[in-house]
Amino acid sequence: MSAVMISRKVTRKWEKLPGKNTFCCDGRVMMARQKGVFYLTLFLIVGTCALFFAFECPYLAVRLSAAIPVFAIVLFLFVMAMLLRTSFSDPGVLPRALPEEANFIEMEIEAANGSIQAGQRPPPRIRNVQINNQIVKLKYCYTCKIFRPPRASHCSICDNCVDRFDHHCPWVGNCVGKRNYRYFYLFTLSLSLLTIYIFTFDIVHVALRSMDSGFLNTLKETPGTVIEVLVCFFTLWSVVGLTGFHTYLISLNQTTNEDIKGSWSGKNRIQNPYSHKNIIKNCCEVLCGPTYPSVLDRRGLMSVEAPSSTSSPPTPDNAATKSNPATPNTKTTAPLIPNEHTPDEAKPGIGTPPQKTNGSIPKEGKPSSPRDASPKRSPAPIVVKESAH
Ligand SMILES: [Zn+2]
Ligand SMILES: [Zn+2]
Repeated sequence: MSAVMISRKVTRKWEKLPGKNTFCCDGRVMMARQKGVFYLTLFLIVGTCALFFAFECPYLAVRLSAAIPVFAIVLFLFVMAMLLRTSFSDPGVLPRALPEEANFIEMEIEAANGSIQAGQRPPPRIRNVQINNQIVKLKYCYTCKIFRPPRASHCSICDNCVDRFDHHCPWVGNCVGKRNYRYFYLFTLSLSLLTIYIFTFDIVHVALRSMDSGFLNTLKETPGTVIEVLVCFFTLWSVVGLTGFHTYLISLNQTTNEDIKGSWSGKNRIQNPYSHKNIIKNCCEVLCGPTYPSVLDRRGLMSVEAPSSTSSPPTPDNAATKSNPATPNTKTTAPLIPNEHTPDEAKPGIGTPPQKTNGSIPKEGKPSSPRDASPKRSPAPIVVKESAH
């Protein structure tokens, strides 16, 4: 008997993921496709710290204390760890709907909207849920073919829906969302401290050395100091300002995206349903709350029989071919992808048939797949009461 060896290339799901991300280390590292500014960030941080360790630290360690370079090294390592953790992780990308799931949602929406005459504008694809006595609109993503969970948004640069989307940050080369926000904040905070630290000891170094050998001689002996002072001076304003802004957002349990859109202020007059109305509680939730696993399963093996939504290639009709102008206050009953902000009663999963609601609390509906459920004509909106926190 002769054994026949068949070599098969293993295909992992990250290789087939739609969206504009790049992966390396066999899917362990995930970033945005555009990384030029991220390399500039790395260059500025590493370059400035290298100059500081080369020119100031030897003198300051002897003249003042050996703790100065030690603390600088610890701070530098922490900054780099937070930067790489933010840049290389899944920010909370939501998987796109499978083609059959997308078809099912389309059928549901059409069933809910009824027949639309030619030339008539179709109503917007919005679903309302009630969270902490506030009505929150869930919008349909025409690219991902899902109803976005509360606080999620589609990043046009990465071409993915991201849960608790904050913003896309070119400086870290990634989206900032539910899974990496706290690391992004710790990065800006520690970078602010590092910048202030280096700037301060640059000035101390010049002052001490000028007393020994004169100001001009000091600048000639340590040319790196001038570069460091300039980089730190210009970085200081932006980084410290950014840290202050995010501290303000965290104290309100608000995202940059919500702040820019005025989701909880201005004309909408809706109060933030996620805020505890307590700064300490809000900070604890954002910075010390639970961490969430990635739902992409990037390193999972591709299965021919049962491809997952994360591995489905984008189909031509996945594009926003059926976009329609928004008309407010129209609701659909199509399903959504739940997250922790979604009330339990409103977590039907993809493909759940429409739930009839009587009043505000719908009956528990057992999630079913698109294959074993057919859309029903049930135009009643889902409005759910729940205490999110
Ligand atoms: Zn999307
Ligand atoms: Zn992005």
